[in-house]
Amino acid sequence: MFVTILGSGAALPIGARRCSAQVLNIGGFRLLIDCAEATQDRIRYNHLKLQSLSTIIISHLHGDHFFGLPGLLSTMHLCGRTEPVFIAAPRGARQVIETTFELTGNHVGFPIEWYEMDFTEGEQRIFEHKRCTIDAFPLDHSVPDYGFRITEVPHNDRQPLSYAYCCDTAYDERLVEHLCGVDLLCLECTFSNEFEHLAAERKHLTAGQAGRLARLAGAKQLLLTHISARYREDEPLISQARAEFENSFLAADNTRIEIKK
Ligand SMILES: [Zn+2]
Ligand SMILES: [Zn+2]
Repeated sequence: MFVTILGSGAALPIGARRCSAQVLNIGGFRLLIDCAEATQDRIRYNHLKLQSLSTIIISHLHGDHFFGLPGLLSTMHLCGRTEPVFIAAPRGARQVIETTFELTGNHVGFPIEWYEMDFTEGEQRIFEHKRCTIDAFPLDHSVPDYGFRITEVPHNDRQPLSYAYCCDTAYDERLVEHLCGVDLLCLECTFSNEFEHLAAERKHLTAGQAGRLARLAGAKQLLLTHISARYREDEPLISQARAEFENSFLAADNTRIEIKK
């Protein structure tokens, strides 16, 4: 099980970081998580076959997580796709995509199976497959937003690997119950600790808050993503996260991270 980071930046696709997108590989099954602008370019750049993606999950409809989806679906169609695609996204995504295709005279020639998430508490199983299950839970952001926990279905008696992704969210310790003991926890980290007031106002996390959530959840490793363009170096984010949770590191675009016990 490993994750390829296609974009690890917040809001603006500038500098070395593009906006949020990643592909999780679970025993050959590929899952696209978020789909910012230019995600299809990054998929090609990383030699991940576009048509091998049949499952897409979108955390929320802010452009830096969602604006790549119409283009990606259009390219899939132009390349001759007939196989269905499953998309889980907050309510409204389907209308945006269908309206975009309708008003622009574009067309998708393959079936899309939608799971529109519209719940404000608890956890829902949104996907089951022979390789993995996906559970979604609400986050605290300025628009409806969901975190995901993906759990491998192991084919022998070893312990299943797990991966969780929360982007974007305000600090909220109620998240911990969804993240308990996860092997790799990917959390947003838009701000350094000095900007805690801005993080609260814009409903994002600081590096220290991300580290604290990882510690409280008993995660094995913390991967920080959604890094603001104001940070060109790993510091001070990495030290601030490590002050709370030692096994923290920063995501970088076009890198692959192995998920282990
Ligand atoms: Zn964002
Ligand atoms: Zn957002």
